[in-house]
Amino acid sequence: MSLETLAVRAGHDRTAEQEHSEPIFPTSSFVYSSAAEAARKFSGEEVGNVYSRFTNPTVRTFEQRLAAMEGGERCVATSSGMSAILATAMALLNAGDEIVASRSLFGSTVSLFDKYLGKFGIVTRYVELSDLKAWEDAITPATKMLFAETPSNPLSEIADVPALAALARRHGVLLAIDNCFLTPALQQPLALGADLIIHSATKYLDGQGRAVGGAVVGSHALLEEVFGVVRTCGPCMSPFNAWVFTKGLETLSLRMKAHCEQALSLARWLQQHPAVSRVYYSGLEDHPQHALARRQQKGFGAVLGFEVINGQQGAWQVIDATRMLSITGNLGDVKTTITHPATTTHGRLSEAQREAVGITSGLIRVAVGLEHLDDIQRDLARGLDALAG
Ligand SMILES: *Cc1c(COP(=O)(O)O)cnc(C)c1O
Repeated sequence: MSLETLAVRAGHDRTAEQEHSEPIFPTSSFVYSSAAEAARKFSGEEVGNVYSRFTNPTVRTFEQRLAAMEGGERCVATSSGMSAILATAMALLNAGDEIVASRSLFGSTVSLFDKYLGKFGIVTRYVELSDLKAWEDAITPATKMLFAETPSNPLSEIADVPALAALARRHGVLLAIDNCFLTPALQQPLALGADLIIHSATKYLDGQGRAVGGAVVGSHALLEEVFGVVRTCGPCMSPFNAWVFTKGLETLSLRMKAHCEQALSLARWLQQHPAVSRVYYSGLEDHPQHALARRQQKGFGAVLGFEVINGQQGAWQVIDATRMLSITGNLGDVKTTITHPATTTHGRLSEAQREAVGITSGLIRVAVGLEHLDDIQRDLARGLDALAG
């Protein structure tokens, strides 16, 4: 079945009540008809629900639906995107192992790798996302996993996923892709050769900014290890959040199509504005990796960066002149958000580090929502027109 159908139908085993919409099971534990059944379920001899830190029917519906949409054998849901990354690392890495990761990662992912995994003797080496030779050079005999986000945030650089997958296979290491920005509606990393997909369900899977959650998708064998960590260490998804995400998946495809159309139109409009010196969006024909993006993605996503004249002062002027856009670091919402990366998401980097990764003081990030495009443009034009004089 196609992704649109799986998004609406997969993962729901109707109960004896014959409900049409997916039910919520807000229960911490489950009961047995006898002591013998309890013993069999506890030992794993008989599969079935025991406790909602292990399994829960509402969470399972979300897991099965997302696994089907990503083309994966199995999905494990987690309490957040960060705990999806933590559980994956705890499950598949040991002290002394190394990760090779893209330099352009979500800020908390870098902290997780350096500050927390580092504490347990796991070292992460960072490389330029699109520089395949740098990835290869950073691999050592201790490397166990390659980790990337594509497109990157907020500069829309693209990782060549099939090439990274081939590299991973050649060196016998795993490739994990954080698919948060494109979702299975626009990119299916497993089909491109990746071993693991990480999601922050908080973003587009919900799509309406209501709940925090995450997920890992991949093979039965790898996910059994991830499941072991979640079941024992406890970063499980709540049934209510799983229900919100399950309903979010139903409209994912439609929303992502609309997000992409709006983002491309906004990128083109920004490109011709005199106060804008540069636009970063892989959907633009002059993006250096536009052809690669077109090959491995079904759409270009809805997060774009643009540089305005006059540095930080210009950027803040444009942001502060908005009246409708939400000034916030979050994304993946029907509401358009605007942020100044240099002083927020990338504020902990030194100016030299920021310049090195292209986060200039005049850079603004917009995650394009589903308000009417004219209203989004009008809100941005107020500050941009003033800036252009
Ligand atoms: C938000 C985000 C995360 C972390 O997800 P949470 O649900 O906030 O824990 C990880 N990766 C990317 C790319 C994100 O945008």
